[in-house]
Amino acid sequence: MIDTLYIEENVLHHPRVAGIVARFPEARRITCSRYGEVFNPKAQNFRLQKQKPALILAEKYKNFVLEAPAGYGIGAGRNYYFSHMLNCLYDCRYCFLQGMYQSAHYVLFVNYEDFQRDIRLLCDGFPGENLHFFSGYDCDSLALEPVTGFAEQFLPVFAGLPNAWLELRTKSTQVRTLLNREPLPRCIVAFSLSPETVAAKLEHKAPPLHRRLDALVKVQEQGWQIGLRFDPLIYQSDYQQHYRHFFDQVFDRIDLNRLHSVSLGVFRLPEHYYKKMHKLYPEEKLFAGPLESQQGMVSYRQDLEQEMTQYCTEQVLRHVPSSQFFPCTL
Ligand code: SF4
Repeated sequence: MIDTLYIEENVLHHPRVAGIVARFPEARRITCSRYGEVFNPKAQNFRLQKQKPALILAEKYKNFVLEAPAGYGIGAGRNYYFSHMLNCLYDCRYCFLQGMYQSAHYVLFVNYEDFQRDIRLLCDGFPGENLHFFSGYDCDSLALEPVTGFAEQFLPVFAGLPNAWLELRTKSTQVRTLLNREPLPRCIVAFSLSPETVAAKLEHKAPPLHRRLDALVKVQEQGWQIGLRFDPLIYQSDYQQHYRHFFDQVFDRIDLNRLHSVSLGVFRLPEHYYKKMHKLYPEEKLFAGPLESQQGMVSYRQDLEQEMTQYCTEQVLRHVPSSQFFPCTL
């Protein structure tokens, strides 16, 4: 799956690097001094690279944990995100990473202990307050778990922090790590879900809805708290019919006693990401939809956006109380 590994000089002898290199004995290995040399140059084609991304093993030096933007959250007053990885195994046509990064290569920051130290420091700084930490902002939290061991190595850290909550956000079925250990009461395994028709058209390489639901049910049966993330909502002329059927299909399989939260948000992108993505995929129907640009963001026409949010909110609230519902207001 990976045929080229770039490795920063300073992590050449890192034990986590040794483990990953051993998984890909056939891969070409190239040493570099900083990952930005490979990742940042402008003259790269994201679409082309996405066909065979390389894996870059790197060290992160600063900004391990960042404050989440206002409007992003599931009930806590303090929200943070962190990215042990940049880019994703999947290839969702609406994904903002295509607009944000020059390169589709995966970057994995192997110095997990530095992220963990800053998470601990933040928790110590706000004793008695709940802090929510979101992983999977610049990647999928679990899709590359067999390679990264991310959940395996972060869950014990979170288990020792009484005021820290972790959200693992995923479209994947890589849940073995979760099934092999005791559930953590302050971890939310949040599955991003879309109607089958949307997933088939736009969520390339991601598992189909029924397989995500199978994984979700297994995780929930094991005792983990689940989150449902219906974001982005995608417009089609008969969207009401599709989303109504979809919500029924999802909530039919959920144990509401182990459901932590539901969030929802309509498709939107910063305008400069949208322009770049449209250039990468000029033939993509998503970008020819009823969109408009306002204050630097591209989203569906305002009336349509409101209508979709209202309709889908009503549908979700047929199944869950409003106390568990967190519409995204970014
Ligand atoms: S799963 Fe998330 S991070 Fe990965 S391509 Fe899709 S939207 Fe982007």
